[in-house]
Amino acid sequence: MGGKMQTKKLEKPKKESRTKILIDYSICGEDGKIDPRDCCKCLRVCDPAVFIMHSSLDLDFKDPYDPQRWRITPQWGSLCTRCLKCVEICPENAISIKW
Ligand code: SF4
Ligand code: SF4
Repeated sequence: MGGKMQTKKLEKPKKESRTKILIDYSICGEDGKIDPRDCCKCLRVCDPAVFIMHSSLDLDFKDPYDPQRWRITPQWGSLCTRCLKCVEICPENAISIKW
């Protein structure tokens, strides 16, 4: 009885640096020479399924209804384990990852 109340300082959660996954669309998709539908290697190699492939109908192009325009988007970047398999497998070096 009569003991001092102990207060414990909560530790600040460590700030994880965010993973930035960039696709060079001048190489793959859109104006690039690679149609991602013919490749798909990054999609297949990524275990947590970070990437999605989609038509670019909603993007601002000269002809937004051109069915030939598709792109890869790193939609779920927070799931990335930084294994770099996508960077290694991309035949065009179109993917870069930073954190
Ligand atoms: S580094 Fe690994 S987990 Fe991250 S997007 Fe590339 S393949 Fe997926
Ligand atoms: S692996 Fe590279 S070239 Fe192939 S779809 Fe992915 S980003 Fe494009």
